[in-house]
Parts: sequence; structure tokens; C-alpha cells
Amino acid sequence: MLFPVVAGLASDKEFVVMIDPGHGGKDAGALGRRTNEKTVNLAVAKKLQKLINSKMKDAKAEMTRNGDYFVTLKERPNIANRKNADIFVSIHANSIDRKSPMHSTINGASVYTLGLKKSDTNLSVAMRENAVMKLESDYSTSYEGFDPSSAESYIAFEMMQHSNMDQSIDLAEAVQNELVRTAGRKNNGVRQAPFWVLVGTSMPAILVELDYICNPRMEKFMASEAGQEKLARAIYNGIERFRKNSSSRSSSSSKVIPTTEDVRETEVEVAEKAAKSESATSKSKANTGGVVYKIQFLTSPTVLKKKDSRLKGLSPVDYYKDGKTYKYTYGEYPSISEANAGLKKVKKLFGDAFVIKTRDGKRVK
Ligand SMILES: [Zn+2]
Repeated sequence: MLFPVVAGLASDKEFVVMIDPGHGGKDAGALGRRTNEKTVNLAVAKKLQKLINSKMKDAKAEMTRNGDYFVTLKERPNIANRKNADIFVSIHANSIDRKSPMHSTINGASVYTLGLKKSDTNLSVAMRENAVMKLESDYSTSYEGFDPSSAESYIAFEMMQHSNMDQSIDLAEAVQNELVRTAGRKNNGVRQAPFWVLVGTSMPAILVELDYICNPRMEKFMASEAGQEKLARAIYNGIERFRKNSSSRSSSSSKVIPTTEDVRETEVEVAEKAAKSESATSKSKANTGGVVYKIQFLTSPTVLKKKDSRLKGLSPVDYYKDGKTYKYTYGEYPSISEANAGLKKVKKLFGDAFVIKTRDGKRVK
């Protein structure tokens, strides 16, 4: 019974790359003179998928869309989460306002991670990409009143960060380097911006802006078979580099190779923990007529994986659904004083955690 737990620690699972070709269908994305963003994104994505599926060891690539159709910003990360993807790579082409004097000369590639730093340029790229949600008829409900074109909306949005930040930056840097080296793009650097499509992902996630489609020379490159091949190869090489770096990181950090005995000990520990939490739960339920206190510490627009870095290693956790958000809780305490004692520990990780009262699994106020 306990073997799956131990086996789960080994990395024998296939490495799943979720490729997300930005835009599609009624949403063309940024427009060039001869082509548009959705077409370029899909072409590069397909080439990347083919490369990964034919050449990358122990890996497979899946796509959030395989053709010219519309997929909502929220659905894209959900697809990746459902498929248990290891990384999420959203592919886009950049553009600036037609009135800008740089409109037809600006060039270069950037890879973005979800982030806090809010320089004006980064925010405008995110605003343009997030504006897609306005094509959804019920966008104000499904994005909880978020207005992609209002700077104020992004203040609330900034609370939803922390998604595998370090690994996302490693992946972004690896891909950015290759976009310069392999695809010959000008280096506009790794940046952070609040892209909605990255918010719900529970794995390292990046958004690639290949180059500027408003610049006719860059558009020509991105529309060409050879250009698309180079761009796909660059992202492929970046992913390979990221995988190599992270496997050497994890092997150097785990210097102790577990002996059979160590493994057995782990199993015992797991069993003990399970037994303890079970008895605690049944005890509290028996004594308190279904009232249990929990510590709420995080909300998320999607269900998170157990090992999601946003949970900061806190375990075991539970969640309940409130409207369209998932509210994460820790612990089950028979009394408010015991919950408050537990809260001290959780507050070290989540400063604004608080105690809630639940009855039969539902929050009561
Ligand atoms: Zn885009």
C-alpha cells in the first residue's frame, strides 16, 4: 500500500511539456502586414511539439490548441494542470502601438515569467495579451471583475504570484539565451509581468515573445519556414538546457543515497503521520458536533498540485470551493485556541493566514 508513495519520489515519469500557442480562432492576436500572431504562434508551436516528441529523451509535448480555434485564458493553464505537465510554455509574438515611431523598427525576443515588477513596458505587454479575455462574453464574472485595461486591476492581481518562481526564471533564462544564440534574435532579456495565462499554472511557466510582428523584417522571419524552424529549435534547446540544469541541481542537493533501511524508515514515518492525522480528525469530529477550526492561508483560481510551490511545502492541506475560487486550509482543530496555536506556525509561511470555523466541511461565520 505504501509503495506508491516511495515510487512517486523517483523521477521515472515522462517529462510533459505543455505548449500553449497564444490566441486562435476569433482572436488573431497582434497583426502584421502579411500574417498574424495566432498563425505564427501555432506554426512555431507545432514545430516545437514535433521536435520534442521525436528527439527529447523521456519527454512528450502536448498543446493547449492544435488548430485555429479560440481557447480562453483560464482554460489554457487548466489543460496543463489536468495533464500534470512539468512545464508550461506559452508562445506569442510582440507588437507595439501603430502610432509609436518605433512601430516598424522595434525588434528582439523576451521571455516572461509571472511577476511583480511593474515597469510600464512590461505592464503594457501584459495588458495587450490579457485583453483577449474581453472576447469572452462573461469575462467579468469568470475573471472576478478583473479589467485587463485598468492599471488598478493589476494591484489586486499581484497577490496571485509565487508560482514556481525560481524554476520559472531558470526556464525563462535558458530559453531566452537560445532565442539569441540559436534563432539570432536581439536580446531583450528575461522579464516579469502579470500575464493572466500564467496565473493558474501549477508548474514552472513562461511566456515567450518571439519577436515583433509589427516590424516587417521580423514578421518576414517569423512567417518563414526557416525562421519558424529556428525559433522552435531555440525553445527546444532552452528546455533541454533547463532539464539538464535542474537534474544536476537535484542530484547535487541529495548527496545521501537512501539505503533500503532509509526507505523503510520513510514508509514507517508516512504510515505514522497518516495514522496520527486520522485519529486527530476522528477525535475532533466526535467531540465537537461537526465544528472544526481550520487555518485558511491561500486562495487560487484553480486546484493546485500537492507539490505546488505556492503551498510552500505546507502539508497536509485541504481546500474548499467558494464561488469560483479555491480556498486552501491547513489543519483541523477542535477548539479555536488550538487553531490559534497552529496559526503561529502557518503565519511564518503565510503572513495573512487566519482561522476559520467549519461545520461538516463548510465554512460557517
Ligand atoms: Zn499574444
